[in-house]
Amino acid sequence: MAVSTLSSIPQIEKILQQAFLAPFIERLSRPVVADAVREQVARYKKQHLQEPEKYPFSLEQLYHNIERACWLLNQQRLQRVVNGTGVIVHTNLGRSPINADLWQQVTEVNTHYSNLEIDLSTGKRGKRKGLLQQLMQYLVKGENTLVVNNNASSIYLLLHELAKGKEVIVSRGEQIQIGGGFRIPDILALSGAKLVEVGTTNITTTQDYLDAITDETAMVLLVHTSNFKIRGFTESPDVRELASALPDHVILAVDQGSGTTTEQMPDEPTVSSYIDAGADLVCYSGDKILGGPQAGMISGKDALIRQLEKNPMMRAFRPSRIVYSLLEELVVRKLNQQAEGKGVAETKSHADLRLLEQRAQELVAGFGDLISVVQSEMTVGGGSLPDQSDPSWSVQINPSQPAFQRSPDKLLALMRQWPLPVIGVIKHDKVQLNMATVEASEIPYLRNQLAEVL
Ligand SMILES: *Cc1c(COP(=O)(O)O)cnc(C)c1O
Repeated sequence: MAVSTLSSIPQIEKILQQAFLAPFIERLSRPVVADAVREQVARYKKQHLQEPEKYPFSLEQLYHNIERACWLLNQQRLQRVVNGTGVIVHTNLGRSPINADLWQQVTEVNTHYSNLEIDLSTGKRGKRKGLLQQLMQYLVKGENTLVVNNNASSIYLLLHELAKGKEVIVSRGEQIQIGGGFRIPDILALSGAKLVEVGTTNITTTQDYLDAITDETAMVLLVHTSNFKIRGFTESPDVRELASALPDHVILAVDQGSGTTTEQMPDEPTVSSYIDAGADLVCYSGDKILGGPQAGMISGKDALIRQLEKNPMMRAFRPSRIVYSLLEELVVRKLNQQAEGKGVAETKSHADLRLLEQRAQELVAGFGDLISVVQSEMTVGGGSLPDQSDPSWSVQINPSQPAFQRSPDKLLALMRQWPLPVIGVIKHDKVQLNMATVEASEIPYLRNQLAEVL
C-alpha cells in the first residue's frame, strides 16, 4: 500500500512546475529550490515508510513541507527590515542605511565603465582615490586620507606598516573589544607589533605614556572607547599635551571609531579635533556616524598615508568603486551642507520629537487598549556615544492581552516573520517599537500587520 501511494509523488521536475514554487524560484534560484524539494521528498518518504500511521500519505502535506522549507531559506536572503529598536546605527541591522538619493546618484558610474584607475587628463594609469583625497582635506583637515574595507583593516594596516616588530603603547583603559571578537590586543599581536600597556583601567596620564617610551617605541595608539563608558574617577591625557610631549620617532595614532566630522554629535570628538590636536593619523569607520558605505578611513600626515598605501596588504584591503563613488558623493553633500550628506545618525537623532509622537499616535489609532504610546529613548549605537540617549516615543504592544495570547518573545518572533520583517524590542516585559528608527512611510504597513494579529 505505502509503496503505491509514495510512487504517486510527482517527479522533482514536475513539483518544480507547481505554481506555489514560482516566487521562490525567482527569489532563491532554481537549484536551491530543487535541492529543498529533493530533501523534503526524501524526508517525507522516510517518515511515511517508518511510521505510516503517524504520517499517512498526503501530497498536500508534502507540498506544505516544501513551502515551509523554501520560506525558511527565503528568511536567509539579505532583505529590508523595519528597525523598531530605537538604535540608529544598529550593528545587526546593517549599521548606516545609505541615503537613497546618494545611491541613485552613483548608479551610472557603477553600471558603466569608469575612470577608476585611469587619469583622464593624461590617459595614463591613475589612482583609485579620485577626488576623495581633496574632499577629505576639507572635511577632516588631514593632509591625506586613505580608504580600506573597514576600520578593523585600518588599524591592522597602520600597525603592520608602522609598528611591526616594534612597541606600541596603549592605555589599559583602552584595550577594548569592539563587536564580535575584534580585540585591540589581538589585532596588535596579529600585526606583529608589541603591546606595551600603561596606566590603569580608569587613569592614564601623559606621564604614563612618556615613561613607557623606549628606542623601540613606534607608536602611541589612543582608542576611543566607543561602546562603553567608565564613569566617575577617570583621567585620560589631553591629546594636544600628549602630542607635543612625544619624541619625534613616536607616531601618535588615534582610533576615533565613529567617523564624526561635520555631524552635530555632542560629546563625540571629531576626526578633525584629533588632527588639530596633533595626532599624526586618525582612523575611523565609514558607516557609523559618517553615514556612508562600509569602509575604514585613515586621515593624517601625507608622508605616513603614502607609506601605508605602499603596504602590500593595501591590495587586499582596497575597497571597490562602489565604496569610492558613494564616499565621494556623500562628502560633496556634506561639504555643501545638504541633507543627503548628513548620515542617518545625525538625521534621526535630531528628529523632531513631536513628529515621533505623532507617528506613534498614528500607529495606535483605533487599536484601543491593546497598544499604547509610551515615552522612550533612542541611542545612536554602532559603538558611538555610549553614554548618551535622547528622548523618543515608542508604541507598546501588550502581548499578554488575550487577543495576542503570546509571550513577548513569541510576538517578536512573529513580527520577524512578517513579509517585511519587523525588529522590535522588549521593555518591561512588553514589546515596543521605537518611532526614532521607524520610517513614517512604514506606519501604514505596521498598522495592517498589527490589525491582522489582533
Ligand atoms: C567600530 C569600531 C571599530 C571597528 O570598525 P569596523 O568598521 O567595524 O571594522 C574599531 N574601533 C573603534 C573605536 C570602533 O568604534
